[in-house]
Amino acid sequence: MLGLMQNQPLLISSLIEFAARHHGDAEIVSRRVEGDIHRYTYRESARRSRQVAHALNALNLAFGDRVATLAWNGYRHFELYYGVSGSGRVLHTINPRLHPEQIAWIANHAEDQVLCFDLSFLPLVQAVHANCTTIKHYIALCDADKLPADSGIPNLQSYESWMGGQPGDYDWPTFDENTASSMCYTSGTTGHPKAALYSHRSSTLHAFAAALPDVMSISARDAILPVVPMFHVNAWGIPYSAALTGAKLVFPGPAMDGKSVYELIEAEKVTYAAGVPTVWQMLLTHMKPQGLRFSTLRRTVIGGSACPPAMIKAFNDDYGVEVLHAWGMTEMSPLGTLCTLKNKHDSLSDDEKMKIRLKQGRAIYGVDMKIVDSAGKELPWDGKTYGDLLVKGPWIIREYYKGTSDPLVDGWFPTGDVATIDADGYMQITDRSKDVIKSGGEWISSIDIENIAVAHPSVLMAACIGMVHPKWDERPIVAVVKKPGMDVSRDELLAFYEGKTAKWQIPDDVVFVDAIPLGATGKMLKTRLRELLKDYQLPEIQK
Ligand code: AMP
Repeated sequence: MLGLMQNQPLLISSLIEFAARHHGDAEIVSRRVEGDIHRYTYRESARRSRQVAHALNALNLAFGDRVATLAWNGYRHFELYYGVSGSGRVLHTINPRLHPEQIAWIANHAEDQVLCFDLSFLPLVQAVHANCTTIKHYIALCDADKLPADSGIPNLQSYESWMGGQPGDYDWPTFDENTASSMCYTSGTTGHPKAALYSHRSSTLHAFAAALPDVMSISARDAILPVVPMFHVNAWGIPYSAALTGAKLVFPGPAMDGKSVYELIEAEKVTYAAGVPTVWQMLLTHMKPQGLRFSTLRRTVIGGSACPPAMIKAFNDDYGVEVLHAWGMTEMSPLGTLCTLKNKHDSLSDDEKMKIRLKQGRAIYGVDMKIVDSAGKELPWDGKTYGDLLVKGPWIIREYYKGTSDPLVDGWFPTGDVATIDADGYMQITDRSKDVIKSGGEWISSIDIENIAVAHPSVLMAACIGMVHPKWDERPIVAVVKKPGMDVSRDELLAFYEGKTAKWQIPDDVVFVDAIPLGATGKMLKTRLRELLKDYQLPEIQK
């Protein structure tokens, strides 16, 4: 017997229509590429998203055609999120930090028909357009009078003249909720990037889950600043969850330096911010010397790379801001786990609570996870045994777009991460499986080694890698960037490890570097660091 409830497909257009109807006057504020602040409401945003849908129809784009963006977080990008997906096309957000050759490869692989780009990416588009064989229309996200003359880019229009004259009402089409809505390529460090192709159903379910109190806890009372880019896994789904709840949205545009982010948080009374650790490092580095305080910020979600305990403590103890440590992947839409405490943890001491908060967190409903050994046998949840982390759920990838092999193992997606899970279901990432350091038959977590280094007051960033060793197979060394104007010697830093980790896990050496190479999504590029240190020799071991 089937239930007798209405069968409405879960479509992305319903989110913006809900926001326009029930939170029509809630604000969306954007720092524009031009540097000024733009503000309007969900009502106005929905109207312009419908205009975008009409403008795409006018280009004769077919259902399912891909529309690419090279854009910062801002209101026009937000309108494309809804206008493109809502009208049945697929939004392909391209990461502008990728190498130009990779961008052209991705655009051709996705068979993009349209490319919408912020003017800051004009030189990039000029460099790649001749190699993008499927793109027929180029739209610069600007007013008509800002459109560059003689750009050399064929069929270039300004966004405002392209969509501005279109009607503001539109009946969003109804279709199967499993239809593709957006796509994002992984920034794979080896081989070609691979694309996760999200659906209306997966994105809407993810938006519901992300808003839950134990997940990102997004509500109509919040003013949210997604510093996490809209070109990387849909800014963790915040553009969808914000519309679902009617939260005020504050977009930082291209200005992600500490000063700009701080000023925006204060000016727009942001209660809640989300981003990768490197962005928050810049913010804290800006605030500390000037003794700046937050007047409204209460929570921040930090993920994408392991959040160092020192950062969680600084936000919590120095600024009264709760850090929610999150873990996920492009292939997971991206949210998998978030670290919030349970009722039974209420009576714990602050130190005991902090030990839990440092983990990557527990699974969100909709995500199941397990750890397995090399034979695929499930390992115990004891908080000590580590193994390969596998996940499954309705917003986790089944296949890559145009993929040639099945990425799943018995229906589970192998994340490539190594983790422990404790008896309460809290997962902690030890490493990417390729970054784990194998020393004398034991494993050393590079994340643990990095976390200790960045707890030192003079250390800005640290990356731990394994170096080949004749006796132990590998030994860890740590590459360190010092904070400006601060100093620490190799021996002082190695002494700092004493008592904080087992003796055999203490790195063999410290290498001071000016910068640690970062990838297109702000993660440390250890492959590149290994290349840079290819001539490095471990100091002789004297025992
Ligand atoms: P991406 O698909 O580019 O977002 O990268 C996903 C990968 O980033 C994961 O598989 C993890 O290796 C890493 N990652 C994401 N969040 C965290 C976190 N909170 N702690 C440690 N690693 C993380």
